[in-house]
Amino acid sequence: MKIFAPKETDSDETRAALDPIGTKKLSDLGTNVLIESGTGESSGHSDEDYRQAGAEIADRNTALAEADVIVRVRKPPAEEVTKLKKGAIHISFLDPFNEADLIESFANAGTTAISLEMLPRTTLAQKMDALSSQANLAGYASVILAASRMKTILPMMMTPAGTISPAKFFILGIGVAGLQAIATAKRLGARVTAFDVRPEALEQAESLGAKALRIDLGETKSEGGYAKEMTPEQIKIQIDAQAKVCSQSDVVITTAKVFGRKPPVLIKKGAIDQMQNGSFIVDLAAEGGGNVEGVVAGEEITTDNGVTIIGLTNYEGLVPQNATQVYSSNITNMVEHFLDEESKTFPIDLEDELLKGCVITHDGKIVHERFTS
Ligand code: NAD
Repeated sequence: MKIFAPKETDSDETRAALDPIGTKKLSDLGTNVLIESGTGESSGHSDEDYRQAGAEIADRNTALAEADVIVRVRKPPAEEVTKLKKGAIHISFLDPFNEADLIESFANAGTTAISLEMLPRTTLAQKMDALSSQANLAGYASVILAASRMKTILPMMMTPAGTISPAKFFILGIGVAGLQAIATAKRLGARVTAFDVRPEALEQAESLGAKALRIDLGETKSEGGYAKEMTPEQIKIQIDAQAKVCSQSDVVITTAKVFGRKPPVLIKKGAIDQMQNGSFIVDLAAEGGGNVEGVVAGEEITTDNGVTIIGLTNYEGLVPQNATQVYSSNITNMVEHFLDEESKTFPIDLEDELLKGCVITHDGKIVHERFTS
């Protein structure tokens, strides 16, 4: 079985789907790993590193046509889907809720498209959970980014020259990224307040030493650990309650997402207008539209009252070596989990609980129930 990792094409992308450790693991499992030259350039791995791990450095078009499994971080450029061998398996983030045409073209090409966003968040799947491995690093990177830009330090310091107050962080959304942001800001000595619509997340934030903001929103349901969409009335109550915390914060980090939907806009202009000159908002949901009114994906803007709103689309890409390390581990764990030892193939059993959750197209058809109608 040939497994190909092409170089990522998005100019924003610093990660690779495989690192040399993953390459060695796949080679040891008896598969042939093909890597495009330069794949690890931005994450600190040379072609020679991959070669020594057992990979063959391959021509992109030839390998796309020959590979049985293609692994990437981001969705492929549309024109590359038709280059894949019929029956090939394509594994990457696919953003399937917003990529109807791409899904259609995978089905037409007879490719088995696996969307890592759709992998069920079960205990069995934890080792393959790329959403979590990347969100964790994004949470860390967002705090370090803010800390490196602030004109103040994070911890309190009592010195003979006077006392420096701790920086105040507000973390909105306490999922994987939010929890890591809280832990990182706390470790650096900041005072942290956090909010999530899921009550269990507030308790997790408290266990990390953050102050939980409690807002009475009435009933807030969650489904499979994910927040459900709230009513416009609930969102308004939340926005008003948060505005005061924002006005007192040096840094606001937003990570609130609703699976399969656009992220809710939770920090409105009214709240930003009340924030202090020199404060920062770091929006981790910017790529999908953002949690912050006025955020521009991929850009940084400063408002008239001096608030900098950062809307990067790839926070985990700020730490590409570790992001690649854990992504590569997710991919190799997935291949190892499904590999048929004898035939060295990756059989697709749509009755399998994990594959049923994340295979979007197979055998010329869209097979995932969320995308069939
Ligand atoms: P996510 O990226 O989908 O969303 C981030 C956070 O935003 C969530 O905590 C969500 O509740 C919150 N949010 C949504 N709307 C909000 C609003 N209006 N205001 C404030 N916060 C809002 O979440 P995630 O990081 O992918 O994690 C989702 C859940 O999955 C969590 O419960 C997490 O613990 C769970 N999880 C389980 C496993 C596993 O068991 N294997 C692995 C990873 C994550």
